[in-house]
Amino acid sequence: MSRFDQWLVPKKIYDAHLHIFTYKGMEKRVKQAGMNSVEEMAELFSKRTNNKFEIPPKDTNELLKRWVGEMNANNVEKALILPDWNSTEIVELASKDYPDRFIPYLMINPMEEGAYELMVDAFSKWNIRGIKLYPPLHYYHAYDKRLTPFYEFCADNQLLITYHMGISIGQSADLRFMNPSDVSPIARDYQKIKFLFAHFATGYLRELLFLMYHLDNVYAESSSSNKWMEYLPYKITLKEVFEKIISLKGTGKIIFGTDSTMFPRGWRTAIYQRQLNVCNELELSQEDIDKIFYKNLKTLLV
Ligand SMILES: [Zn+2]
Repeated sequence: MSRFDQWLVPKKIYDAHLHIFTYKGMEKRVKQAGMNSVEEMAELFSKRTNNKFEIPPKDTNELLKRWVGEMNANNVEKALILPDWNSTEIVELASKDYPDRFIPYLMINPMEEGAYELMVDAFSKWNIRGIKLYPPLHYYHAYDKRLTPFYEFCADNQLLITYHMGISIGQSADLRFMNPSDVSPIARDYQKIKFLFAHFATGYLRELLFLMYHLDNVYAESSSSNKWMEYLPYKITLKEVFEKIISLKGTGKIIFGTDSTMFPRGWRTAIYQRQLNVCNELELSQEDIDKIFYKNLKTLLV
């Protein structure tokens, strides 16, 4: 089952984790980080990810077009956009020019002034389907009362929430805010919201499984190289991660993503192939593979 030409492949691909960083967004980051230039920031990105990071074009239309080209080349039907923090620029453009290709989403730092209004406005204008929150990067517990209006709004409007918990590529992350158990009272009290944990909760597989034991509205999102596996004090493989979740909760709880971020790398084919390889090694059926690579996310978008 290891030869690529013998693999079962999904009928379609939905990617639940595609970052589109704009030039404007980078300028904002540069200011916030007290850096001197976009070039300096790009260099830092390259270093952290061990990959060349090309500065995005100033014309955001051009950037979006390039990503659509990548999606076409890799048979990705839809991608969930993760824009710059508290920015709607890319969502606005994507909704106008490629409404069938992108799932509009926001990355929200709820500690920044105007974040709530930004979310409400984006929902009314572009029908965003959810938000991503990153507590260890913005220093709040997921159960912080200041988040209540956000959760209320997401519940009332059937918006998804993607969390990045666990370890982080962000140098400034505060580990006190990274435990997915923080989400437990929220996921319990807001059953209407579906919660996606990016990168299998990035080191907190155990807590993610515990949450899944208690609650049905918790999902494992599979994106990135899942490097967190190397930082556990025991050996674990991606195959074992998939196997564990599937054996406990079936294939309905895993949502495929790549965490594609930058050019020239583009869409992360290697991550797709690695996960598809795992699914084939586990001898999943066509139906199960379709669920993981697009149907599960599609179902959550209604
Ligand atoms: Zn990401």
